[in-house]
Amino acid sequence: MINLTEEQWEKLFDTADKTVQKAMAELPDPVWVNTETWTCFLEKFSPRSTDTQRVFGICGMWNQAIVIYVGEIFEVCQENQERFIDDVRHVYFHELAHAIGNLNEWEVQSRGL
Ligand SMILES: [Zn+2]
Repeated sequence: MINLTEEQWEKLFDTADKTVQKAMAELPDPVWVNTETWTCFLEKFSPRSTDTQRVFGICGMWNQAIVIYVGEIFEVCQENQERFIDDVRHVYFHELAHAIGNLNEWEVQSRGL
């Protein structure tokens, strides 16, 4: 697991937050209406990640929440800032497709998300 200082974490969370806000703003209106009830949380690592299978994000139907694990993403991006932003965006859209589209894993991936 990557070891960041509090300050670095803060920056990372800030970058992820801005990326999600920007991604949200780009959604077309019909999608946006459905997205409003979903809250997006940022956390460091997923308790469900293993050595072979990393979890970058989840969406909870019961609490209408999307969680993005910024530490997991930053680590696989080898701490590359640009890749990190791209991946956060990708994970957000991916989880959102599960969330509001009620799509399973295969259905989400077949849409390139
Ligand atoms: Zn998925």
